[in-house]
Amino acid sequence: MRPSHPHIEDFPLVSARSLKLSIGNKRFNAASRVEVNIGNGMNVSIDLVPRPTNLGSVMRHLCCPRCGRSCLKLRVVPREPWLVCNVCLKESFGARFASQSRRMVGSVPGLRSQAYFEQTEGDHV
Ligand SMILES: [Zn+2]
Repeated sequence: MRPSHPHIEDFPLVSARSLKLSIGNKRFNAASRVEVNIGNGMNVSIDLVPRPTNLGSVMRHLCCPRCGRSCLKLRVVPREPWLVCNVCLKESFGARFASQSRRMVGSVPGLRSQAYFEQTEGDHV
C-alpha cells in the first residue's frame, strides 16, 4: 500500500498578503526581498517579483526558492529550501489539497453522476 499523501493545507502558509500585513504595504511594495521567520529561529529569504495587475498597478509576487515560479502563496516545509510553492509541494512531497483527496475516496456522494433508464419497453398495452 502506498503511504497516504499529506495535505497541502497541513504545511504552514506564508502568503504575500500576510507578509504585506506584517511588514506594511509600503515597505512590502518597495522591497525586492523579504526575510521570513519560519520558526525555530530560522529565517528564510524570499525574492519578490513585481507583476503588473489588471488594474494597472504593480503587485509583488513571491518567488518560489525551489523552482523560481512567482506565486502569492508559499508553504513551509521541513527541509531545504524550507519554503516552496504548491507545485513544488506536490512534486517533492506528494501533497494534495484536502479537497482533492476527499474527492478521491469518494466521500462527496453528491458529485457522482448516475444514469437512469426509463423502462418503457414492453409496457405497451
Ligand atoms: Zn516552486
